[in-house]
Amino acid sequence: MEVLKFPDPRLKQLSTRVEDFDSFTYKMAKQLLEIMYAEGGVGLAAPQVGYPTRLIVLDTDWITVRYRVPTVIINPLIFEYSEQKVKTLEACLSIPGFKSEVERSSHIKVQYHDLDGEFRVESATGLRAVCFQHEIDHLDGILFIGRISRLKRDIFVRKHKKRRKAGGH
Ligand code: ZN
Repeated sequence: MEVLKFPDPRLKQLSTRVEDFDSFTYKMAKQLLEIMYAEGGVGLAAPQVGYPTRLIVLDTDWITVRYRVPTVIINPLIFEYSEQKVKTLEACLSIPGFKSEVERSSHIKVQYHDLDGEFRVESATGLRAVCFQHEIDHLDGILFIGRISRLKRDIFVRKHKKRRKAGGH
């Protein structure tokens, strides 16, 4: 299983809800976590590995605290966004080699199911709030480069084309 890279059209798909909390969903979550840790990410969404369902994994602190506290999030819905915004330098495993500041709500309230099908409500702030928004965007086929200024996106597109010509990704 491999992380799909921009401009793979599958990254633009709308993902469907997870209906069964079965061994397949469990295996998928486990694999997503393995890939996320192996690639040094803090979040990964199932559509990024070509599996268009509403399943994401997060662990926003493991790189700094050096231990793992993974969260598996199924069918998430953000039902409250703070008016207060924050700009964070974002990166994405599907867009290697590019970072850009993205403006998002600094606080959110989100509901989801965990891997056991248990319903949860969480208030998230800081990097975790940003990650929730970034990963849930993936479920709706939105990449963070779709949320940056026209000018920055043009710079990205130019760099990307150059790299493709040079034989890279
Ligand atoms: Zn991403």
